[in-house]
Amino acid sequence: MDIEFVRSRFIKHFDGKTGNIYASPGRINLIGEHTDYNGGFVFPGAVDKGIMAEMRPNGTESTIRAYSIDLKDRVDFDFHDGQGPRASWARYIYGITLEMEKLGVPVKGFNIAFAGDVPLGAGMSSSAAMESCFACGLNDLFGDNKVSKWDMVLAGQATEHNYCGVNCGIMDQFASVFGQAGKLMRLDCRSREFEYFPFDPKGYKLVLLNSCVKHELAGSPYNDRRNSCENVVKHIAAKHPEGTFETLRDCTWEQLEEVRAEVGEEDYKRAHFVLGEKDRVLAVCDALVAGDYETVGKKMYETHEGLSKEYEVSCEELDFLNDIAKECGVTGSRIMGGGFGGCTINLVKDEMYEPFIKTACQKYYEKYGKAPKVYDVVISDGSRKIC
Ligand code: ADP
Ligand code: MG
Repeated sequence: MDIEFVRSRFIKHFDGKTGNIYASPGRINLIGEHTDYNGGFVFPGAVDKGIMAEMRPNGTESTIRAYSIDLKDRVDFDFHDGQGPRASWARYIYGITLEMEKLGVPVKGFNIAFAGDVPLGAGMSSSAAMESCFACGLNDLFGDNKVSKWDMVLAGQATEHNYCGVNCGIMDQFASVFGQAGKLMRLDCRSREFEYFPFDPKGYKLVLLNSCVKHELAGSPYNDRRNSCENVVKHIAAKHPEGTFETLRDCTWEQLEEVRAEVGEEDYKRAHFVLGEKDRVLAVCDALVAGDYETVGKKMYETHEGLSKEYEVSCEELDFLNDIAKECGVTGSRIMGGGFGGCTINLVKDEMYEPFIKTACQKYYEKYGKAPKVYDVVISDGSRKIC
């Protein structure tokens, strides 16, 4: 993203003055899928694609003048009028402003222009990038940077819940705020403790392939999966009154086997995936510390297999992309995100990158009449003031 470009728009659309520039990234998740609501781990990192905003107090009490550079849309609103703007992109500004105010930041009116290069809805969380970028700016301009990083994460999440109608977890905002170049983060979704792990795959590239499908499924597959997991926990807890079992995080492989017959094959399979995923995240941590990217890749394939066969949240297109990766000798490949569409994330040796992308695009096009979108990502820094 280009500072001069954002600045030129800010100057043009407001009163000619410059402000401060802030940036915040989107994110990937290397491994740890459907683990958040099971009390497990996720393993995200910030990427080199994000949102950049120029912001400046405008001397008013509570008027926000906002310009979306990408959408070429200008919205002015009063953030104390009890309604806020209608435009969905401006709801993020409205929401984060009120949430930062709740945290004690004495926000006044400001001008803002912003642009981004996180592909929308591709699973890299452009919305969290926006929230954390604006939170970082408001904290700096009005709050003496007194709001902690965690509070900014929670303010971003609250923005989605309270103003945008999205009932999300905390991984996306966490990754955007806490990200560091060359590091992934293992976040414990239960305790919110986290640890940085080196991710510096020399000789490899990380690339996302967007299947460009999102299957609308009848029924509620997410709730079904959650219910299966909860059911298994309930049965294990009943057998072990001596223990505390809140989520599958608390359950062992042996305990799962004990209840296999009572819970039935479907619930068993779902829980089997979750326990496997917990182990895989930990195995990936060890592999990263050892710089063993071949093992990282192997675990990614195992996750894909589990998501596809046990958790059953893949789809034909994602399995197809995963098969091509395997055929091309790609080190690791899996569905990224909840499933039923979206991207695969691939760890590819430099020398295999071009043939893989070429083959994947060609074969996917032949089969589905469109090429997957290709996003190279580099693990980069989190929210920050640029100047
Ligand atoms: P994602 O998975 O990328 O977070 P969401 O649906 O949660 O997808 O958020 C996408 C929304 O965020 C868009 O509909 C838009 O309102 C807003 N948004 C994201 N990036 C931009 C941008 N560069 N300019 C304006 N609005 C954006
Ligand atoms: Mg989002």
